[in-house]
Amino acid sequence: MSSFNQLGLSQAMVANLSQLGFTQPTPIQAQALPPTLSGKDVIAMAQTGSGKTAAFGIGLIEKLNPRHFAVQGLVLCPTRELADQVAKALRELARAQANVKVLTLCGGVAIGPQIGSLSHGAHIVVGTPGRIQDHLRKGTLTLESLRTLVLDEADRMLDMGFQDAVEDIIAQVPARRQTLMFSATWPDSIRTLSERYQSTPVDIRVEAHEEKPDIRETFYEIEPGRQADALAAVVSDLQPTSCIAFCTTKQQCDELAADLESRGFSALALHGDLEQKDRDSVLVRFGNQSCAILVATDVAARGLDIKALPLVVNVEPARDPEVHTHRVGRTGRAGETGNAVTFCTPSQGHKISRLESQRDQRVQWGDAQALLATPDKPVKPSMRTLCISGGRKDKVRPGDVLGALTGEAGLPGKLIGKIDLFDFQCFVAVDRSVAAEALERLENGRIKGRKMRVRYA
Ligand code: AMP
Repeated sequence: MSSFNQLGLSQAMVANLSQLGFTQPTPIQAQALPPTLSGKDVIAMAQTGSGKTAAFGIGLIEKLNPRHFAVQGLVLCPTRELADQVAKALRELARAQANVKVLTLCGGVAIGPQIGSLSHGAHIVVGTPGRIQDHLRKGTLTLESLRTLVLDEADRMLDMGFQDAVEDIIAQVPARRQTLMFSATWPDSIRTLSERYQSTPVDIRVEAHEEKPDIRETFYEIEPGRQADALAAVVSDLQPTSCIAFCTTKQQCDELAADLESRGFSALALHGDLEQKDRDSVLVRFGNQSCAILVATDVAARGLDIKALPLVVNVEPARDPEVHTHRVGRTGRAGETGNAVTFCTPSQGHKISRLESQRDQRVQWGDAQALLATPDKPVKPSMRTLCISGGRKDKVRPGDVLGALTGEAGLPGKLIGKIDLFDFQCFVAVDRSVAAEALERLENGRIKGRKMRVRYA
């Protein structure tokens, strides 16, 4: 086990860390600090609680020139809460150095006092993309002395629709800089962002996340026509927050989703016959946790950027073993057990035999009768989606929506979920417990200075 002493930190920093109770670097710190301190770009997969803030914070502070009163470090965060938390952590890490000024610049609060604070100078700015953009536009913030840019919870920033804002900010910082990117998940969009704005980044994933996903697979033989009952039973039993049920035909998707809805489950069908507008709405609601069950065909699910679901159900066995593996691969996050359940009627048994011979291993059958005896117990999705009648073309930005919801003693940012921006409309997920309040705030408030129509999606 390495210690902070061996990482080449200043004595003052090591002493301060020990005062903070940081005796040993966490795995992410042990891996990220050496490249960070030597000025390299880093892309790290790290969750909250991994010690990621200090993983970038220690480097930021060690490389700072406190005598140069200009913004040398910028940390972009998805929410005000995270920005406040990061700023607090940075101030603690900077205690050993005299006069290091850390400033937060977030939306949802008045801009005037921020302009005042900026005029006194700061070494490190922590903020949300929309408000940073506002300051850059006004010229109240300049980043020409920036040396290190940090994107914290980059995946969440993209989820919240901040991609354009982040790219706009990056376009205004010096090309010769260090870029550190931290993300809990690794979708293609993150990879693309890294390729575009980082130069040969050191790729870091902490050990715990490299484990093979653990997938529990169960097969049930059921009579034809019992698929809806069996699916309702599996969901009632496992209570997944999110699940994809794969069907063969469009008609089956529609019927199954309608059947589940009528029994109180939250389910949506996704197949090739949907109009683009409806498809967007379905994907938005499933992706932002407002709908628990997506009943989909293989083709429709192909473009879905959703992995690591707690449950995948094959309502019908897949056409061939490759398709089966692909479907099942959507469950099971590293370190968490995923569930894959497959239904099979007696006449479909040959498909399971093919799977067994391809794997050279028997599958595990469950007790279908016991399963079907499970009483219906629908899962309530955690979020609810509001649809706002304004989008990109109306110059609406995610920060405007976030500000309208959280500003002036509004809702706490942690109750606001994904924000999906389209040309003419915008969807925002809010915690179910505050959905009515959020709807009212948006209806009575203004976005971009205008009243907009708002409804439940
Ligand atoms: P983070 O993942 O950055 O949100 O940090 C999670 C928590 O771990 C924070 O409360 C930190 O103060 C704490 N922490 C970070 N690094 C260390 C360390 N090396 N030793 C002990 N605690 C730490």
